[in-house]
Amino acid sequence: MNADTQDSNTENGSACCEHTGGGSGFEAMYGENAFTLKEMKKRLPEDAYQSMVATIEQGAPLDASVADTVAQAMQEWALERGATHFAHWFHPLTGSTAEKHDSFMSPSGHGTATIKLRGKDLIQGEPDASSFPGGGLRATFEARGYTAWDPTSPAFIVENENGCYLAIPTAFISWTGESLDHKTPLLRSIDALDKQARRVLELFGDATSKVFTTVGTEQEYFLIDEGFFNERPDLVICGRTLLGAKPPKGQELDDHYFGRISTRILACMLDAEQRLYRLGIPIKTRHNEVAPSQYEIAPTFADSNLAADHQQLIMHTLREAAREHGLRCLLHEKPFAGINGSGKHNNWSMSTDAGVNLLDPGDTPHDNERFLFFCAAVVLAVYRHQDLLRISVASAANDHRLGANEAPPAILSVFLGKELRAIFDALAKGDRAVGEEGGILGLGSTVLPNLPRHSGDRNRTSPFAFTGNKFEFRAVGSSQSISFPNVVLNLAVSEALDDMAGEMEERMAAGEGLDSAALSIVSKVAGGAHPILFEGDNYTEEWHKEAEERGLLNLRDTVDAVAKLASPKNVALFQKYDVFSERELKSRLEVMLEQYETHIGIEASTLLTLARTAVMPAAVSYLHELVDTVEKGGRWLDLSGVRATANEVSATIDKLAAGIEELSSLAECHADSPAEGAAHARDKVIPTMDAVRQAADRLEQLVPGSLWTLPTYSEMLFLH
Ligand code: ADP
Ligand code: MG
Repeated sequence: MNADTQDSNTENGSACCEHTGGGSGFEAMYGENAFTLKEMKKRLPEDAYQSMVATIEQGAPLDASVADTVAQAMQEWALERGATHFAHWFHPLTGSTAEKHDSFMSPSGHGTATIKLRGKDLIQGEPDASSFPGGGLRATFEARGYTAWDPTSPAFIVENENGCYLAIPTAFISWTGESLDHKTPLLRSIDALDKQARRVLELFGDATSKVFTTVGTEQEYFLIDEGFFNERPDLVICGRTLLGAKPPKGQELDDHYFGRISTRILACMLDAEQRLYRLGIPIKTRHNEVAPSQYEIAPTFADSNLAADHQQLIMHTLREAAREHGLRCLLHEKPFAGINGSGKHNNWSMSTDAGVNLLDPGDTPHDNERFLFFCAAVVLAVYRHQDLLRISVASAANDHRLGANEAPPAILSVFLGKELRAIFDALAKGDRAVGEEGGILGLGSTVLPNLPRHSGDRNRTSPFAFTGNKFEFRAVGSSQSISFPNVVLNLAVSEALDDMAGEMEERMAAGEGLDSAALSIVSKVAGGAHPILFEGDNYTEEWHKEAEERGLLNLRDTVDAVAKLASPKNVALFQKYDVFSERELKSRLEVMLEQYETHIGIEASTLLTLARTAVMPAAVSYLHELVDTVEKGGRWLDLSGVRATANEVSATIDKLAAGIEELSSLAECHADSPAEGAAHARDKVIPTMDAVRQAADRLEQLVPGSLWTLPTYSEMLFLH
């Protein structure tokens, strides 16, 4: 499904267009900067167009013979829009995107030049891969990597006031075929799920030609004034404040959530949304979030590969638009201590190419049964692969959030909602009759009790919740790429469907009917995976205890979690569905640990600079003033208050100095392996940073504002 076709499949349809009327500016703007099927239809010969439709909508292999034709049309379109260059746009393991630009123009002798994008330029590029994280997959001497066109994600125009360029979404692979990016495994996992889901649908008599996963993200972010941002080296370098005393007012009054959006912020949002519409990204929702200066933006869902590309463009565009408005967009998971951080809810489902949502309970017994089967597969997937889901959202930044009473804990569990949970409980016990009327599942007589689409008792504390016709994975970090969490989800569900389909096939071959076989399997899964189901408050201490009794994993931080990435269970999963070889998986582990250590290292040295050059001088100046006062007035005034303050400032300076000393000596340590380095960062560096911060934040409360050079939390969060 691509940006062109998805509207017809969405819950909201294209109703808005009917009101605005054809040809309105708003409608015409949508997708004008994306080379979608709509544009291809206008520009390609019919056979080439049909070939692209087959590739984009049915996943048919790309017909290489049409590449030249498509390249020609794409170039013409891009030139009309003022582009001079093209770039293969890819997703290296840095978590953001990368691109290398080439001009459309080539010299052709005698002072002339030709403009040509060849099919082979479209299909393949060859950026030097040596400086991207590869986790030991390549030595520098064999640094070649190549980018391969992903025709299912529309090429798009990136505008600039001095010109623009054509960006072509691509996968990034080493010369030996190992993936170096986030897109390749996502595409592989989508294929795996397609295969297993179609196998199940065939057993249900609902054969279809394609199943894909759908994703809709809800992105949280902060906007703060650029002036303050520029005066905070920690925000500039690390994206979060490394020190800062708690403001007198935080989010206690809950007056920001869903509040009226201020004029300046709205101007910035409208600007960002317009750019996104023009890229064909269907932005749907905006609102103020819980913390002061925190906001959310959400598009309508799309096929997960497209959603992952769009998600990167959303983050990029928010940053760009903010700058135009004298603001800065903070996407970090925890920019301000003591204030809610930002996440990215990942709404996930499976859909057939005919637009049937496989996690929609439907209205007939047959639909209900099929729904329960797919739903049980998701429950089983989360139960079996709690570790992988936790790993997929692990980062130094997200460690500040997960389990901090603002975001789901590091323990994975599934919330089904009251009605569905009752059904799973009954099935787990082997009952098939549930509900007040004794609705009998799957035996052809009654249907499921109506499951509310938007039930009021939604559990906001659950990391993984069923929300009526999709699951919402709520532990994803605000700054991260959504690709890996979706790879894990797709694969874990593929495996569950694979096993469940295998059992179905055996039972049906032995003569068992569809209803009985399906229900027996769902019952078995409901019983076996029962410990993962939890409807209560995930933030409480009791849940932590109970989860431990249930044997659920509690991987508290990135270092603990990532250590499990290349376990035999996980290697087997990734290998079975051709997503990663053991070597590729181990390289990912290495990259994650290195990134963890590097991020914390950068934070530590930024904090050292701040503590030495901003905090210490301010504190010493104040101490000097206090001591001066005592010296000059102590003979005829009591000055006990001044003396006490001087003593406290002096003692806190001692603590700060001790912390600085320790932190700088820790920064000198060199670990032998990524695992050791990451453990050192977690066990030694982070606690010392906390000690430095504690002293600095106390000093901020003591030292007069006139001496304190760093913008405070109150200023950053409440002034714009
Ligand atoms: P909230 O969770 O804030 O109440 P909604 O449930 O309306 O909001 O939707 C949140 C996100 O879920 C949106 O991005 C929406 O497009 C997405 N979504 C809705 N249906 C699906 C689906 N079938 N698959 C994936 N995402 C979906
Ligand atoms: Mg939501």
